[in-house]
Amino acid sequence: MTEKNKKASSGDRAIGMDASITRRDFLGSALLASGASALNGLNPAQILATAGAFSAADAQADWTGYGGVGEYSRSNGNAFAVMEVGHKMRDGAYEPLPPDTIETGETYDCVIVGGGISGLAAALFFQRKAGKDKTCLILENHPIFGGEAKQNEFEVDGKRLVAHQGSAIYLVPYPYSFIARFYDSIGLHTPKLTYQRWSGTGPEMTLGRTPYDSAGLSHGQYGFWFGAEFGQDPGLWLVDPVGKKMEGAPLSPAARRELLRWFSGAAADESKFDPPKYEGDEISRKLDAISLEQHMMERYGLSRETIRTFLSPVEGGGSGLGPDALSAFSEYAADLLHPWDDGSGEVVQMFPGGNTTIARLMVKALLPGSIDGPEGVEGVSRGAVNFAALDARGSTARVRLSSTAVSVRHDGDPAKASALSIAYAKDGKVFSVKARSAVMAGGSWTAKHIIKDLPEAQRSAYAQFYRSPCMMANVAVRNWRFLQKMGITGCRWFRGIGNYFDVRRQAVCGGVEPTITPDAPIVLTLKVLYSYPGYSTEEQGHRGRGEMITTPFREYERRIRQQFTDMFRAAGFRAEQDIAGIVLNRWGHAYLTPQPGFFFGSNGQRAPRDVLRAAPFGRIAFANTDLAGAMDHRYSILEAHRAVGQLLDQVVSREA
Ligand SMILES: Cc1cc2nc3c(=O)[nH]c(=O)nc-3n(C[C@H](O)[C@H](O)[C@H](O)COP(=O)(O)OP(=O)(O)OC[C@H]3O[C@@H](n4cnc5c(N)ncnc54)[C@H](O)[C@@H]3O)c2cc1C
Repeated sequence: MTEKNKKASSGDRAIGMDASITRRDFLGSALLASGASALNGLNPAQILATAGAFSAADAQADWTGYGGVGEYSRSNGNAFAVMEVGHKMRDGAYEPLPPDTIETGETYDCVIVGGGISGLAAALFFQRKAGKDKTCLILENHPIFGGEAKQNEFEVDGKRLVAHQGSAIYLVPYPYSFIARFYDSIGLHTPKLTYQRWSGTGPEMTLGRTPYDSAGLSHGQYGFWFGAEFGQDPGLWLVDPVGKKMEGAPLSPAARRELLRWFSGAAADESKFDPPKYEGDEISRKLDAISLEQHMMERYGLSRETIRTFLSPVEGGGSGLGPDALSAFSEYAADLLHPWDDGSGEVVQMFPGGNTTIARLMVKALLPGSIDGPEGVEGVSRGAVNFAALDARGSTARVRLSSTAVSVRHDGDPAKASALSIAYAKDGKVFSVKARSAVMAGGSWTAKHIIKDLPEAQRSAYAQFYRSPCMMANVAVRNWRFLQKMGITGCRWFRGIGNYFDVRRQAVCGGVEPTITPDAPIVLTLKVLYSYPGYSTEEQGHRGRGEMITTPFREYERRIRQQFTDMFRAAGFRAEQDIAGIVLNRWGHAYLTPQPGFFFGSNGQRAPRDVLRAAPFGRIAFANTDLAGAMDHRYSILEAHRAVGQLLDQVVSREA
């Protein structure tokens, strides 16, 4: 062992890299970790080849890492097998279909590609509107349904902890709105939830209910961290940056001024801006013509440098990239769904595992026997999934998991064909079913590869959908006394892995403890985004995906442990004992990142989403939240509703 290696190993030990709960015990990790930089630009299959001396299972484990416990433990983010099939599909491996493709002999009235919120909603609408004698099949490529609405579970010191993998919050809707009635129909009767109460020793601390609240910021209980990149060694904490008016931050006076206005809310208060009232009004079209970065500069008086150095990519309107890459309208698109703000300050809600609960409620509504126990939030939070009941022979609605649709094609001329042939890959084999209609709810990045006879108009529309990656890292800690000691409940940092986290009071359901204390374990969620300001929207997505999928679990684990150690060691935090588990959720195509012109078109061309939403193509209709241009589960539901309505109005006939 060289001196350098010895040093690295003792450094690894100091941050707990040999601690047990996240251990993978595989042979290839050291090679993959040390060779990470050489692997850039390769896809996972190529990584496996590079690691040829080791088994595929070893390398796969090194990529996937620890998955937590429970029903979601084999489905953290995009599962490795899903990605492999996805890349084969992109590279044309299923064109033509292999000669040993197995015809299942099944014919469905509707096959739905994708078992996220949109696909599940499509199945429910189809079942409810077409009638229970009509059949539908969902093909979902992950080992469990939910799409980006899934959760991780940890077992820490005898306590069960739950955290979201992706889709987190929902907003209380107007009581008689379409979304409210939909929630009610799946068993979410009371959208306002009850949250944990404080039971810690010492004065009660300010806690939000979601990872996005920064509740401590306006109460002096928030910290900004400046590390080595800001010339600070061992690093500098500015606790209560707003209250202290950024005094002591190692920044230029101009940057301090701008950040203070931004984080104190003054920039928003001062701005004389009239936001869009409805989609397509004059202001929304003006916003869509410029980048969000330009809009932030004009509306809030921020400099480009401040935006790119301190605010990007977090303040990107929830679209995965920094404001330079996005349409300014993306910041306002979701607001136009009009949540019900009754003044109680409770409009934003979150289940312990985020919108996982909404997905589970939908599955229970579709197939009552598929989750044990009664309907309703408590029932689906505690009940176990009955996997066999999801795809039971004879059932009119079926959910087929670990099944990637690889080919959807009309049987003949799309204008006249009476059926579609749909092929999917499962367990290394390819199967084929027939369908009288289909909803593509899996997302733009796969739909464009799967539909083999897609006309040029739709094909070029999909080519203008760019998606960017995101890695959600859930870090279970045995307690958060180190934060209490520092007097903070959330923090932000401007370099390194992730950018922020917040301690959150969880909704009390599904066995969550009714109180929260710094002495008990919690999960801290880091959202890791990949942005490269200055590059095109498409290029930023490609680069980020390349970086995310070629970095082994162990390397990310090391960076997270080091980040926490650098920030919290002085407050008594010890990564080797305090981190109880890390789960990475890698979403290769997490967010649609709408570029200027995405929403309402540019250069006299129709908006790409309108081309796909306007009408079905033959027997195929299009759904998924990305068709709205905003990543929000309400849009997933609304797009599914439109797509199924189009099929029933125009495609599915009585004798079909
Ligand atoms: C990190 C993150 C945080 C988010 N936070 C929120 C939030 O707080 N609130 C909110 O409302 N929204 C949030 N979203 C947006 C989220 O996308 C939506 O809420 C919603 O979950 C999307 O559902 P969907 O069905 O439209 O798409 P998806 O969830 O992407 O579901 C599509 C499913 O289809 C599968 N699929 C794709 N291709 C195929 C194929 N060929 N064959 C079979 N299956 C296929 C996919 O793998 C996936 O499982 C967040 C998204 C991310 C990434």
